[in-house]
Amino acid sequence: MKAVLKKERDVGFVIEDVPMPKIGDDEILVKVEVASICGTDVHIYDWNEWAQNRINPPLIVGHEFAGVVVEKGKEVKRINIGDFVSAETHIYCNHCDMCLMNHREVCRNLKILGVDTNGAFAEYVKIPERVAWVNPKEIPHKYASIQEPLGNAVDTVLSEDISGKTVLITGAGPIGLLAIGVARVFGATKIIVSDLSNYHLEIAKKMGADVVVNPKEANLREIVLNETNGLGVDVALEMSGAKSALSDALKLTKFLGRVSLLGLFDNNVEINLTDDVIFKKLRIYGITGRRIFETWQIVSDLLRSKRLDVSPVITHEFKLEEVEKGIKLMKSHQSGKILLHP
Ligand code: NAD
Ligand code: ZN
Repeated sequence: MKAVLKKERDVGFVIEDVPMPKIGDDEILVKVEVASICGTDVHIYDWNEWAQNRINPPLIVGHEFAGVVVEKGKEVKRINIGDFVSAETHIYCNHCDMCLMNHREVCRNLKILGVDTNGAFAEYVKIPERVAWVNPKEIPHKYASIQEPLGNAVDTVLSEDISGKTVLITGAGPIGLLAIGVARVFGATKIIVSDLSNYHLEIAKKMGADVVVNPKEANLREIVLNETNGLGVDVALEMSGAKSALSDALKLTKFLGRVSLLGLFDNNVEINLTDDVIFKKLRIYGITGRRIFETWQIVSDLLRSKRLDVSPVITHEFKLEEVEKGIKLMKSHQSGKILLHP
């Protein structure tokens, strides 16, 4: 089958014919219909420091996808051939203390699809039955392929109730953009979005942002205070991984507010804990992955009911072989989600 490989310990991907995956007794084989490119795939392509320490080539990359089950192992009971599935990409162990306490998102033995195991940028992918999520048939395949990042957005937005709240989202990459739509559906009263890319801010407006700000071109602090009666927002969602955006999120959240952190930082960050967190009595949440499978149920219902329209976030679709074109476009900040068709 055709697959996108990280073949050498170096920059780039290669497209190659590789043997079909052989499934184990507890695994299923999925024919990939659509996959989508994530920032992690870009890091693996670029061979950054994280990738050098984590990835063991040769590896089939990619983890966000939707497809149809074509084969199943002897022990597979819940999933049937012909099911239309996506996958929770965090392959949890189901026996550590965190898994036993129903917090599989922080499994201590976590393996990630397309990072630690062969992934989905291929004609077929094998996954353990336990991470398969059966999609309702009426969800379009291309929307089903972005449920994993949509799950990040849902888990971040809903780490506390959002209804009736004013919200600042720092970072309008694909996940921040999806979070705008989610916050709107769940009843946020005002959504202010910051990003350094005006292309992303245009999509943010389409997703329902009330106010968009490029902090390089305008005074974010002044705008947020103007929009919130001088108080600051009730909720900040940090979705950029930029230090200055973290500072914006903490400083512009009002007393007794909530800050949820999804963005990942390359290095340690310095914050004024005393003034910006403690004396304001902020509640701060670290978010990793999604709740398995509570978040998937919400994501599925949002798409099935058409309450959430994710179409503005999907800006490009390419053939699987054109993956490099997609990666380059993502690096130029002139794209939202990019889909790949095997
Ligand atoms: P992305 O890199 O595409 O988006 C980041 C956005 O932040 C970009 O649009 C960028 O222009 C913007 N940005 C950069 N500096 C900014 C600043 N100072 N102020 C405002 N915006 C700024 O990433 P994504 O795929 O949307 O993911 C968002 C973040 O979440 C990333 O940091 C990613 O690593 C992280 N992430 C975390 C998890 C988790 O489980 N915690 C999962 C997936 C992604
Ligand atoms: Zn575990």
